[in-house]
Amino acid sequence: MLNLGKRSITYLTGVGSKKAEVLKKEADISSFEDLLNYFPYKYMDRSRFYKVVEINGNMPYIQLKGRILSFETAGEGRAKRLIARFTDGTGVIELVWFQGISYVKEKFSTGKEYIIFGKPTEFGRTYTIVHPDIDPIEQAGQVAGGLTPYYNTTEKMKKSFLNSRAIQNLQYALLSLLKWELPETLSSDVLEKTKLISRTEAIKNIHFPESADKLKKAQFRLKFEELFFIQLNILQMASYRKQKLKGFVFSTVGEAFNTFYKEYLPFELTDAQKRVMREIRADMGSGRQMNRLLQGDVGSGKTLVALLSMLLAIDNNYQACMMAPTEILANQHYVTVMNFLGDMNVRVALLTGSTKKKERNKLLPAIAAGEIDLVIGTHALIEDTVLFSSLGLAIIDEQHRFGVEQRAQLWKKNTTIPHVLVMTATPIPRTLAMTLYGDLDVSVIDRLPPGRKPVLTLHRYDNKKKELYAFLRKEIRLGRQVYVVYPLIEGSEKLDYKNLEDGFEVFKDVFSEYTVGMVHGRMKATEKEEEMRKFISGETQILMATTVIEVGVNVPNASVMVIESAERFGLSQLHQLRGRVGRGAEQSYCILVSSFKLSNETRKRLEIMVQTTNGFEIAEADLRLRGHGDFDGTRQSGMGIDLKIANLASDAQILQYARDIAQQVLDEDPILSLPLHQSLKEHIQQLFSWKINWGMIS
Ligand code: ADP
Ligand code: MG
Repeated sequence: MLNLGKRSITYLTGVGSKKAEVLKKEADISSFEDLLNYFPYKYMDRSRFYKVVEINGNMPYIQLKGRILSFETAGEGRAKRLIARFTDGTGVIELVWFQGISYVKEKFSTGKEYIIFGKPTEFGRTYTIVHPDIDPIEQAGQVAGGLTPYYNTTEKMKKSFLNSRAIQNLQYALLSLLKWELPETLSSDVLEKTKLISRTEAIKNIHFPESADKLKKAQFRLKFEELFFIQLNILQMASYRKQKLKGFVFSTVGEAFNTFYKEYLPFELTDAQKRVMREIRADMGSGRQMNRLLQGDVGSGKTLVALLSMLLAIDNNYQACMMAPTEILANQHYVTVMNFLGDMNVRVALLTGSTKKKERNKLLPAIAAGEIDLVIGTHALIEDTVLFSSLGLAIIDEQHRFGVEQRAQLWKKNTTIPHVLVMTATPIPRTLAMTLYGDLDVSVIDRLPPGRKPVLTLHRYDNKKKELYAFLRKEIRLGRQVYVVYPLIEGSEKLDYKNLEDGFEVFKDVFSEYTVGMVHGRMKATEKEEEMRKFISGETQILMATTVIEVGVNVPNASVMVIESAERFGLSQLHQLRGRVGRGAEQSYCILVSSFKLSNETRKRLEIMVQTTNGFEIAEADLRLRGHGDFDGTRQSGMGIDLKIANLASDAQILQYARDIAQQVLDEDPILSLPLHQSLKEHIQQLFSWKINWGMIS
């Protein structure tokens, strides 16, 4: 079976070159092994046959055995349908097809016995099953054995006669060929520890479960395996990094830190900030390079943690830098840091794309000579011309805006890699963080500073515009400012920009006594900056925008966030946008405006927003509702992990278990050199060979 697994799918009876092409394109299946790893997404219990007389109005899916009495077509155009009268001797029901009519008529005939499976609906005095699964009685052994698998298929696959049933048939044919055991991917010690069933048994049962219990065991084994190898890979890289990469030792808490902490810090740190500072200090003093992800909801006070960490670098005679994704943010950080530091003796520089040449020419030699302690900036920081004399700590704010390569650039600035602190306001659920950043240590600020009023979130339908305008006017009269955000979605840009522009005209008209500004991605950078500046300074009262409103922008006087077409935004995005308000002392509001027609899922999304302001709860809910594939930040970070069977939202326990076992294996055999672990090593190489060595660069 070893090389049989690699054998092309075309060797399977029934798969010609055309079907093979579709399988490859649509489902990435080209070998026997690929097919076996194409798992069902659900199962239906088909252990029982019902009788037509037993059918009642609220049955989910039923299975019947009987014969077709007659075929008849009815309707015209889109309503054209094929109706078959079907009986099992106890009564008659109708089977209906809207598509594939000629195929059905050709394939099935009256008088022969069939097995029918589908959802009955009451229609007049009879029951109807639309597009039932239908199989000749001879195939009962294959289809009606109990739990029947259902496979995801695309439209293109269906058009090539590769529907779920066809995939099932292919699996059946392939598994019947399988006379040997499949190669085991887990090592014997892991199997012993975990008591998992063998790979062969798992694969057989995932496609054709012998029983519900066997199916559970098969699912567990395959989920475990998937997560185990990811963890094994990540933990191995992490331990490599810890051994090989020596870090600067920040052993002193000195004058800069202490002076600031005792004399300049205007408030008490929150407990969460204190805990995170302890974690960071321990890391930077340990002798190995820190690689830490700092998560904290918007407004949780990450900037202050960054500043305290940078002061520690100074106390140990190193420089520190802080990189933000946009000029506005870099400017804002610079102002914040300067305000915090007051007249303290710390030399801070701001370096961005718009730093004037004359200023740059002064700054660069000063940075290189070690005459500057802290450099705050944008991408400009990673240009080759920027050289530090001794960069000990690099802080990256809002990490998901930076590409991996850009981060790697920063490390090139030293022979020893500086300590790295990546800050993000996108709350990443623990399970996802463990999977994506398993080699990063994670700190979480889980409390907001005291005295914040949570943003009040309301959901309003878009036929209530008058009331909305009246409310906004009331807030603006109180001296507040308002954001109005429109969606901008790939594929509908043209219409989206038009909506924004139309909205802008309406607002200018309705709020003619005030100044209304607009920013969007099609404007020049300088124009955008100018519009933002006008809003920050309070010259404009209402800012209308696409989602370009910068992550992290802080305008404490803005107290209302209106999100138009809120149904078109993802949860994380809504939460990020809401985070733009609620930064001052006043009560803030987030108003989600949507149309009346909403899908159940969308309604749930908006309800969650109304119910909670906790970013972690929202992120977990997002993961549940959308699946991890769409999760903000995974795709953007270029590290889409494509899980075949495990689910990060619901399999957290298996993930933790897999991680523990992986750690145990590595504790015994750090580089998997024991003969016992050869299969693990080979499998990792096969799985992850194409990936960049993440441990090194982030
Ligand atoms: P983040 O970057 O995490 O979104 P910021 O660092 O911008 O949040 O902090 C938000 C606001 O909270 C800032 O005005 C900051 O000065 C303030 N702040 C931070 N820590 C505390 C604290 N411990 N007590 C009171 N206010 C705080
Ligand atoms: Mg911030």
